[in-house]
Formats: sequence, C-alpha cells, structure tokens
Amino acid sequence: MKPKGFVRRTRQREVILEVLRGTKSHPTADWVYQEVRKTMPHVSLGTIYRNLKTLSEHGEIQELAFGSTHSRFDANKEIHYHFVCEQCGLIEDLDMPVLAGIEGEVEGRGYKVNSHRLEFYGVCPECAEDEEAVSQAN
Ligand code: ZN
Ligand code: MN
Repeated sequence: MKPKGFVRRTRQREVILEVLRGTKSHPTADWVYQEVRKTMPHVSLGTIYRNLKTLSEHGEIQELAFGSTHSRFDANKEIHYHFVCEQCGLIEDLDMPVLAGIEGEVEGRGYKVNSHRLEFYGVCPECAEDEEAVSQAN
C-alpha cells in the first residue's frame, strides 16, 4: 500500500532528492548518505534511511528491492524497466516503452494492479566485451 500525495518537504528530503536526481546509478542508501554528508555533515545514516522510506512510501521516488541485497533508489518514479548486470552489479534504465496491456492482462484475472516492475538480468555490453577479450586471449 502506497499512500501517495503530499509529503512535507524538509531540507534533508530536498537534498536527498537532489542527490538521487543527479545520478543514473540507482544508488544504495549508504551511497546517498555519503553524498548528502557533503552538504549536511551531521546527518546520520538512520535519518537517510527514514527519509528514503518516507519518500518512496509517498511515491516521490522508487525503492528497488532486490531480495536480500540492499535496496536501490531511483528518482524516476514513472514505470520503466531495468537491466541488472550479474557481473559488475550495474543497474541501468532500459530506454524502451512500457508494455501496454500487461496490467490489464493481470486485472483480467481478478487482481487490482497498482503498478508493475520488470528487471532483466544478465551481462551488460561492457562485461560482455571483456568476456569476449578474455576468451580470445585464451
Ligand atoms: Zn556489467
Ligand atoms: Mn531507473
């Protein structure tokens, strides 16, 4: 359940949003913490966690939870798809249209859909190139 709508804009939240909007890397809370500290040296990691939670609960940002590993955060709150490289850990936006009708298909089975998430897992072009180079050297 995501209570969307108004979330009080504190200075801390503004800085967190700025940090998130300034990167395409889908960072962890810890990375956000290190960046926010550059402008707010006294902020605590706990505060960062709480603010990231609040912002994602209000739909201001997206929390990308990857099983047991740390959540990643995304300032882009629209539905879009990601590629996760299993070798270097890169999480990248995929510039492709949202699959029209996929939510309707699920709703046709009696479920009420609020949103959907889709990630592709594999090897990014850069890692694939490295693999290629290694296999040619051997
Ligand atoms: Zn990679
Ligand atoms: Mn993204």
